[in-house]
Amino acid sequence: MEDFQIKYNKTSQLLKKAIVYYYHGNSCACQYPRFMQIVGINCIHYKASFKAWETTLLIEKVKPYFEIETLKNGSENTNEKWTCRKCKSQFNYGWSDFSIAVERDVLFPIKLNAKEKGEKAIKPIPLYLGLYGHSYPSKKEITNVNFDAFKTYIMEK
Ligand SMILES: [Zn+2]
Repeated sequence: MEDFQIKYNKTSQLLKKAIVYYYHGNSCACQYPRFMQIVGINCIHYKASFKAWETTLLIEKVKPYFEIETLKNGSENTNEKWTCRKCKSQFNYGWSDFSIAVERDVLFPIKLNAKEKGEKAIKPIPLYLGLYGHSYPSKKEITNVNFDAFKTYIMEK
């Protein structure tokens, strides 16, 4: 457990730096396919029940860069419209709990205004902390990598 806490804190620090990197100069996270890929991981797409730690952490770190509006309707337990303060792109944010001990959040674009500028996203999606839940996608979709490999991916180094 302590081991996980150390890994979690390390990842949290890294993703904080990644957000600073995405927002340097005139750019914003909406322009980075790898950011978009990870915040958009949604277990429903894989007919499975899990969360990705990196998804939740990245959404948490990027939140201050968005205007948030609560939506009355939607398919999730919590539905919000997130608008990028910089490029005004719109996203839907959803949070749901699926089963005992599994809850996940997801952020996906509705209207993108910014021009793509980051490195391409790849598959399988490489994660360091990875997944937690009851059922998982195949390793062809999402895979575990070491910290340095994840750092290279998310920081585009
Ligand atoms: Zn933006």
